[in-house]
Amino acid sequence: MIEFASRKVKSTLLDPRENFALKSVETEIRTDPLTKDSGRLAHLGMITAQKEDFSGWDTPEIRQICPFCPGNIETMTPRFPEDLIPEGHLRKGDATVICNISPYDQYSGLTVMSKDHLVTVEMLTEKLLKNAFQAGLEFCHLVREKDPQLPYHLIGWNYMPPSGGGLVHPHQQVIITDAPGNLYRKTIDSSRQFARQKGKNYWEALYETEQAKNERYLGRIGQGHWLVPFVPLGVLGEFMAVFPGIHTIDDMQEKTLDDLVQGLRRLFDYFESRQIYSFNMGLYFAPHREEEEMEVKDYYTLHARIIPRTYLNLMQKPPDTNMFQVALQEPFAVLAPEDLCQEVKPFFEK
Ligand SMILES: [Zn+2]
Repeated sequence: MIEFASRKVKSTLLDPRENFALKSVETEIRTDPLTKDSGRLAHLGMITAQKEDFSGWDTPEIRQICPFCPGNIETMTPRFPEDLIPEGHLRKGDATVICNISPYDQYSGLTVMSKDHLVTVEMLTEKLLKNAFQAGLEFCHLVREKDPQLPYHLIGWNYMPPSGGGLVHPHQQVIITDAPGNLYRKTIDSSRQFARQKGKNYWEALYETEQAKNERYLGRIGQGHWLVPFVPLGVLGEFMAVFPGIHTIDDMQEKTLDDLVQGLRRLFDYFESRQIYSFNMGLYFAPHREEEEMEVKDYYTLHARIIPRTYLNLMQKPPDTNMFQVALQEPFAVLAPEDLCQEVKPFFEK
C-alpha cells in the first residue's frame, strides 16, 4: 500500500586518499511515500554533531539582556490584547506563553519553556516539556474560541542556535493560521489524496507497514509509534512520532501528552549520547474545517517531526543546510535511516 521508491547513482573519481585509485561513490535518491518529494542519502558519514562549550552562553551579563529571563519577561516582552488573554500572558508551571514581538502570522505565540536561561538536553525533563506543550495547547484553544475559522494549529520548536533558534533561552512557537506553510499543507493534501485512492488513513498505514517491516521502526511509547522516516529532512536524519486515533487539538488529552514527552525523553537520551544539542521540531495537528467528502480523522493523524541540527564545525560555525536544501528544496542525510534506526532503537527498548 505504501511505496518506498529509491534508486542509486554512481559517481566515479580518482581518490587522492588512496593514491588516486579509481573509485565509485554511491548516492541514493529516495522518493517520499506521501508527498512524492525527493531526498538524498549522500555525503555519507561526513557530518557528525559537534560538542559545544556552553559556558559563555549563560553569564549574568547575558541573562540581564535576555527578554525571556525572570524579571525581563514582564517588562521586555509584549502582552496579548485583553480580549484574548486578560492577564497578558498565559502560564502553566514554569512555562509562559507570550506574544511574539516579531510575529510570523496573525496568531504567533511563543512559549518560554523555563525560568532557566540555559536548558541543556539533559535538563529537558518530562515535566518541563509537558508544561510547555500544555501551555501551547491552551493558547491554541483560546484562539480557536475567538477565531474558529482558522483551521491549522502548529507547535514548532527551534532548540539552540544551530537550529535557527535566535535566543538560547528555550522557547516554542505556537502558530494558528489559515496559511499552514508548504510542508504542512502538502502533507494534508497528500494524506487526503492517499485516503481517496487507497481507502485508508496514510498515517495508520505508515506505522503498521513500518512496524511490520521493522527496518525503520523504533518502538511504541503509549499511544505514540516512533520511527525514522524513509526520506529524512535533516543531514543527521529525522525522527517521527505518529499518534493513531489522535487528530485535532480537541483529541490531545493529558495521556497523549505524557506519551509524547516520554518518547521525546528517549530520543533526547540518544541525542545526549551523540552530543546532539540542537533540533527543529513540529507538532502538526489535523485542521479544523468542514470537509466535503470525508472527515479529517479518516485521512490525517497527529504526528511530530524532530530533526537534529548541528554546525559543520565550531571554527566558522557553518550551518548544516546549504544550496541543496535552500535553493533546491532537496534534503539530504549523511546516514541511512535504516542504520540510524538500529542505533536509536535500544533507547526505545529500555
Ligand atoms: Zn534568558
